[in-house]
Amino acid sequence: MRNRIPCTADRLSLLDPPMIQSVVESTAFQIGHQYVSENRVRIVEADESQISSAVIGNSGLYEQTIKLKDGHLLTKCTCTLVEEPMCRHCVAVLLEYHRWSQPRTAAKRPRETRPRETPYPERPPSGSVPDIKLSEIMIFMEWLQPAVRALEKGQALPEAPTLEAGEVASWIQAIRNLEDRRRESEAVQLALEADMRDREAYVGHLTHQLQISLDETKSAQAARRELQEELASYKTMLARTLEISKEIGRFDGQMKTLAGELMEKGSRLEALAVSFQELAAALRTLGGPPVG
Ligand SMILES: [Zn+2]
Repeated sequence: MRNRIPCTADRLSLLDPPMIQSVVESTAFQIGHQYVSENRVRIVEADESQISSAVIGNSGLYEQTIKLKDGHLLTKCTCTLVEEPMCRHCVAVLLEYHRWSQPRTAAKRPRETRPRETPYPERPPSGSVPDIKLSEIMIFMEWLQPAVRALEKGQALPEAPTLEAGEVASWIQAIRNLEDRRRESEAVQLALEADMRDREAYVGHLTHQLQISLDETKSAQAARRELQEELASYKTMLARTLEISKEIGRFDGQMKTLAGELMEKGSRLEALAVSFQELAAALRTLGGPPVG
């Protein structure tokens, strides 16, 4: 999270615990204070206008940048907390910076400054003269060897020795944080691989569907060709039928002509018959009455 807070102080060491407490959320102050007392704050680089630091939080290591610029306190932390106007980690860093900057400021002006009112015991700046016990280092080294072997094999870290909060405990915490991050990365990678497999299966399914569609298209095309062929044969049949009906028409005409001709011949024959009858009658008349 990132914040910009109006600030009248011109040096970071002027931000004392009561002042910090008066502007931040009470839980953020309490937890920040606890982090300082548990020695979880590392100031990497600092002067009166800016601080670079890291804090071992409850879920990992977070990095902060705090600046005093143009009448504003600019805070930046890699955490995602929504504490206003700054997170517990930035609070812890300001408290830690105030604690270790105080003696130096006081040393420059020993008589002008009021006696320290901070509730913290004297402690040198972190990183410069750490208060490390040799026995703790021995315990740490004993833990470190199996821990490194476990890390190499990708196994879980051995149970950490119980140490008082301090430099060595923070080393162990830092290694555990790295291990947690590695496990998170592995989990993310596994999830990605599973996702990839799902996608491949989906692509396979789509390919299969596409194949089915192609087959369907092919059979539809074949059916269309068959229909076209059938249609063509119907057309041929229709043309022949038309031809036949024309022929029938022609035949019908010929029949009619023939019938007309027959009728005409029939009537001529009738006329001829009549002529014969008349001729016969005439012949009888000429021959007189029959002998008998
Ligand atoms: Zn933070």
